[in-house]
Amino acid sequence: MRTHDRLRIAIQKSGRLSDPARDLLARAGLSFRESRDRLFCYGESLPIDLLLVRDDDIPGLIAEGTCDLGVVGQNVLEEQALERLEDGRGEAFRAIRELGFGRCRLSVAVPNDWDWPGPARLEGLRIATSYPQLLARWLRGQGVAAKPVVLSGSVEIAPRLGKAEAICDLVSTGATLLANQLKETATVFESQAVLVAPSTPFGDARADLAAMLLRRLDGVLSVRASKLVLFQARRDAVPGLLQLLPDAEPPTVMAIEGQDNQVALQALCRSAMTWQRLEDMKRAGASGLLVLPVEQMLA
Ligand code: ATP
Ligand code: ZN
Repeated sequence: MRTHDRLRIAIQKSGRLSDPARDLLARAGLSFRESRDRLFCYGESLPIDLLLVRDDDIPGLIAEGTCDLGVVGQNVLEEQALERLEDGRGEAFRAIRELGFGRCRLSVAVPNDWDWPGPARLEGLRIATSYPQLLARWLRGQGVAAKPVVLSGSVEIAPRLGKAEAICDLVSTGATLLANQLKETATVFESQAVLVAPSTPFGDARADLAAMLLRRLDGVLSVRASKLVLFQARRDAVPGLLQLLPDAEPPTVMAIEGQDNQVALQALCRSAMTWQRLEDMKRAGASGLLVLPVEQMLA
């Protein structure tokens, strides 16, 4: 038995989630000394250690108690949760924070030259995927009977190899699909990285460590999502514009020299500023829109 006065976090050893996960933990004030084999990192600033593993192993490591927390994609977590459910194993882990990176979607893609009247197009076909559970749940919801063909990698070449007619794979930019003459037709699952914890709370010193880490992560995550929005508008357009910023702190309104009707505004916005939102603001009378990231914040 390992001692439970240290917290152990599992993160991906190398891959898309490794750097953002390490960056997030560093911002929360954690520093580590790497072991020679680079699988275990000893926590120097706090009694919190890292285990570097394959992302697919993370839910299992939490379930069996080898690790206390983990950073993994919702796609992997939900797939394995459904698998456990099917096997009659109990719920053993749950996502406790969305981390805002590793965003992607699990999508169905078909050969470019297919017409796509809708999911019914998949009826009776073989769909290659590494996510049979998520795919099966989506197919059930659509009332479509298709056959998942489980592949652990290179799913996108399955149609060309004659192993399947369509695929269901992770997409972020769509470049891989394009390169394989496939087109994205339906989203099965939206994903991002999450912090995962056991379903049952810690009953020892790890509880305090986890609580402290969460407090720090919440601080880091809220700064990261926050944006400083600068813009100008006519005075009479200001109330309408503020309705488009419901999550912003009350803005600073400044006069502009020589322009009585026009003001400059500055608002701290707590969630992501999307292009859509900027366009809505422009339509409502904002000009000179500038969105700046927030580096640090002390309320
Ligand atoms: P390993 O199993 O060796 O840890 P992997 O090949 O499964 O690595 P990556 O390709 O690094 O892992 O992907 C890890 C996670 O990153 C995915 O499970 C998913 O949550 C997320 N992700 C974000 N964008 C993409 C994308 N375009 N393609 C695949 N995964 C993505
Ligand atoms: Zn993996």
